[in-house]
Amino acid sequence: MKLIFLGAPGAGKGTLVEMLIKDLKVPAISTGNILRAAIKEGTPIGLKAQEYISSGNLVPDEVIIGIVKERLAQKDCENGFVLDGVPRTIPQAEALENAGIDIDAAILLDVPDEMIEERMVGRRTCIKCGATYHIKTIPPKVEGICDVCGDPLTRRKDDDPETVKERLRVYHRETEPLVEFYKGRGKLYVVDSTQPPEHTLKLVSELLVSLR
Ligand code: AMP
Repeated sequence: MKLIFLGAPGAGKGTLVEMLIKDLKVPAISTGNILRAAIKEGTPIGLKAQEYISSGNLVPDEVIIGIVKERLAQKDCENGFVLDGVPRTIPQAEALENAGIDIDAAILLDVPDEMIEERMVGRRTCIKCGATYHIKTIPPKVEGICDVCGDPLTRRKDDDPETVKERLRVYHRETEPLVEFYKGRGKLYVVDSTQPPEHTLKLVSELLVSLR
């Protein structure tokens, strides 16, 4: 299956996708994780992306489009993929279409803004493997340590309250129009993501069965 997950920052895309791909056996592609790894390694793309990310803005479309096209051309994407956090603008969605990258469904994880802010302030992330936790709702087994790879967890700089507000503004302005874009193509599915991740996973899994 070729899937896109849409939703505000903190809607639960990363957590859900991580759980989902264990069954789907297709790669998950998170542009946020790719960019954070590039920043950590100090690559030219990382250096370019850093300023945009830390101010809560989007990285320019041409950078993202290049990253995604290159990643989707790899062999492990032949049988499908799950896109997490991309496309985030209409030009990115159009670039995927123009490159002949067709998708089966765009799934919107729906969460009201008030809940988003609370979620993001408690979020902790593993920079090494991209796993995400929440200090209250999804704690790691050992405090401050990633369950998956054992690296220390950090709070992303862009998860501070002021940057979160800016990211939400950017989401409504730049990314929300994609809801109409995919609705117009008969590809949009809306899933409630206000409950714990296991509940969202159940809803998404049922949806995917109905799409097969
Ligand atoms: P995420 O981990 O998906 O929340 O992404 C973290 C940050 O990376 C975002 O706030 C953006 O600055 C940048 N980013 C990730 N994906 C994209 C994208 N598709 N388009 C533009 N910027 C992106």
